[in-house]
Amino acid sequence: MPSEFSGKHVTVAGLGVSGVPAAKVLHGLGAHVTVVNDGADERARTQAAELEALGVTVRLGDGTASDSGSAAGLPEGTELIVTAPGWKPTKPLFTAAEQAGVAVWGDVELAWRLRGHGGRKAAPWLAVTGTNGKTTTVQMLASILAAAGLRTAAVGNIGVSLLDAVTGDTEYDVLAVELSSYQLHWAPSLRAHSAVVLNLAADHLDWHGSMEAYAADKGRVYEGNQVACVYNAADRATEDLVRAADVEEGCRAVGFTLGTPGPSQLGVVEGLLVDRAFVEDRHKNAQELAEVSDVNPPAPHNIANALAAAALARAYGVPAAAVRDGLRAFTPDAHRIAHVADVDGVAYVDDSKATNTHAAEASLAAYEPVVWIAGGLAKGATFDELVAGAAKRLRGAVLIGADRALIREALARHAPEVPVVDLDRTDTGAMPQAVREARRLAEPGDTVLLAPACASMDMFTNYNKRGDAFAEAVRELGA
Ligand code: ADP
Repeated sequence: MPSEFSGKHVTVAGLGVSGVPAAKVLHGLGAHVTVVNDGADERARTQAAELEALGVTVRLGDGTASDSGSAAGLPEGTELIVTAPGWKPTKPLFTAAEQAGVAVWGDVELAWRLRGHGGRKAAPWLAVTGTNGKTTTVQMLASILAAAGLRTAAVGNIGVSLLDAVTGDTEYDVLAVELSSYQLHWAPSLRAHSAVVLNLAADHLDWHGSMEAYAADKGRVYEGNQVACVYNAADRATEDLVRAADVEEGCRAVGFTLGTPGPSQLGVVEGLLVDRAFVEDRHKNAQELAEVSDVNPPAPHNIANALAAAALARAYGVPAAAVRDGLRAFTPDAHRIAHVADVDGVAYVDDSKATNTHAAEASLAAYEPVVWIAGGLAKGATFDELVAGAAKRLRGAVLIGADRALIREALARHAPEVPVVDLDRTDTGAMPQAVREARRLAEPGDTVLLAPACASMDMFTNYNKRGDAFAEAVRELGA
């Protein structure tokens, strides 16, 4: 079938989770595809062989895709680049593209443009971004939409790839789309039905270059929204992004708050999630959506996620009962504030996914008193604000991992009376020992919380393995 890509010379920058499907889809649409990839390890060679068998040209490790100035320039005849979202905009390949007037799209832009292709229904997108809470919110949203009887999926920077969702055989009524700041950077024409920026804290600044650039990329999610730009009333920066966005006429700004909602907001009143945005006469009326206890787990930041998901669902016209049913049906992914066990009256909670200080701050705020297990790779973060904010709640702290000294020093500055155990070991026995030390510090009624505020790769393959090691150690305590 002829398409706008027929005969077009497209360079796909990067193999991997987005590059391989992008190359296949473009090839299938009749484009001349060349894939460039910096590395040439075994995985890359296997992927390359698979694509070459289809007739796609693959160039591994020839410098075209490198970070240095030694790049070989744009592959001959390139008319469009489709890049892996994580590739830094400063790469010489992109500079060369800009000089040549060649557009650079990410996988999300490609998926957006392929909506409705081949006679499929072009399902609208409800988009979720933010520094923390994206995956949880987008899954809650998909659960709510499904409870309303809609054909939907949680897609994007999670589970199903967007390209598969828009080009596959399954038809959707509406998609719940998780977008990272990188993906938004490379998606200039994306126009969501409605969108939310959950929160904004410094992250990935080495990639974006500055906080302003990071915020601006997040803010792109609001561009062209049709029905609602949903913002976090407790995070001014998100509201500023709504103001800066150019939206469709009639599109509304809708806030979510953990307090009593004003008109055009969703919030919490006496243990209920209520909607004062998508109701008739919002100055006088409010619609009950669900009980706070319907949110799993009912930690404050997670209630905020639920409100954000509810706002997007309501913007799409979902009835109140579906919000409640969808929230009740939702179970969070592993290692996100997962209650592992109670041992001797102490609760053990695994939030290994709290890999940055903003996330750890949210989970620490949900428990008191708390014995905090923290540490790992700090990725350039500082811990003063986090520790100062949590100091009152801390029964004690157990520190693990490469950058634990940074947290120890922050504790000495802001919480000198809090007992700290500093574990100087990174072998497989470190986590069981950390858990035993935490048990020693905890009293009945306390929570032992793994919320490392750091990445895991100094001691573990990933945050899943770190959380598994914690849960295993807790089970040993109870045995
Ligand atoms: P993301 O997809 O943005 O990484 P997740 O839903 O996977 O977000 O949650 C990651 C971690 O961020 C959680 O384990 C929790 O510690 C924290 N978190 C979740 N929601 C929020 C929120 N609304 N505000 C702050 N931190 C949050």
